[in-house]
Amino acid sequence: MSDLRVRFAPSPTGYLHVGGARTALFNWLLARKQGGTFILRIEDTDVERSTQASIDAILQAMEWLGLDWDEGPFYQTDNFDLYREYVQKLLEAGKAYKCYCTAEELTAKREQAMKEGRKPKYDGTCRELGEQPADKPFVVRFRAPQEGEVAFDDLIKGRIAFPAEELDDLIIQRSDGTPTYNFCVVIDDAIMKVTTVIRGDDHVNNTPRQIQLYEALGFPVPQFAHVPMILGSDKARLSKRHGATSVMAYRDMGFLPEALVNYLVRLGWSHGDDEIFTREEMIQKFDITNIGRSASVFNTEKLLWL
Ligand code: GLU
Repeated sequence: MSDLRVRFAPSPTGYLHVGGARTALFNWLLARKQGGTFILRIEDTDVERSTQASIDAILQAMEWLGLDWDEGPFYQTDNFDLYREYVQKLLEAGKAYKCYCTAEELTAKREQAMKEGRKPKYDGTCRELGEQPADKPFVVRFRAPQEGEVAFDDLIKGRIAFPAEELDDLIIQRSDGTPTYNFCVVIDDAIMKVTTVIRGDDHVNNTPRQIQLYEALGFPVPQFAHVPMILGSDKARLSKRHGATSVMAYRDMGFLPEALVNYLVRLGWSHGDDEIFTREEMIQKFDITNIGRSASVFNTEKLLWL
């Protein structure tokens, strides 16, 4: 076994999409290639939109694709006490603060900034305010360091840097006491000792915020690999109007999982030749740094020829 630990972390708000399946596949391939550990984590903190039916559908699709996991499934809703503990730690260290601004005040400020052509950003009203009467509702914000830049070497996209002053004081706990997405991801990835985060590139903008949180909490920062999204034939983001986007729809059409897996692994991955890979070959040939930097086009016609 190597020390590599990767995870697939779907939000159970629908079926497993081919884009999600490709991300899961890349995680799985890297784990199998390096003898690492593949973790499955269900990100169900959005209790309004998460459903048991989606969880079942995702697990079923993973099993059909043969993407077996070594640890989990873990559920974020089981970890709320842990997240609260870490929010408390940041508050005590002065690295987070309670913000009492009301939704109306924040909306007015945001609108004002937009009117003046400024990027909307929290103006820091409560940064130095201190404790207010206990009955006043509050959210908890992370005191985001504002100096320098936050940079990381993405395994697929190369070096990415964000000026720290662009990073907002992120809300890490809502007024109802529930933790927010970026915070939970960092705590979980740290606690689960994830070494390499492979996920869709729609998360690139979250990464510098998450890096700041790792640093504030004293956790080691993992490596990142952001997988470019999949587009439809008209170069718009792949959606239902391009044809089936659900993994299980391909099973229902009579595809073999190997055909779909082969197609997904080839999307945007330069491997030189065209034969169909066995699982073993796929594992052997897989190299995360060979995944193309730009989006790839999902072509149902092509898939039909496999
Ligand atoms: N739950 C997120 C999603 O489904 C993934 C978060 C992550 O991989 O860090 O988009």
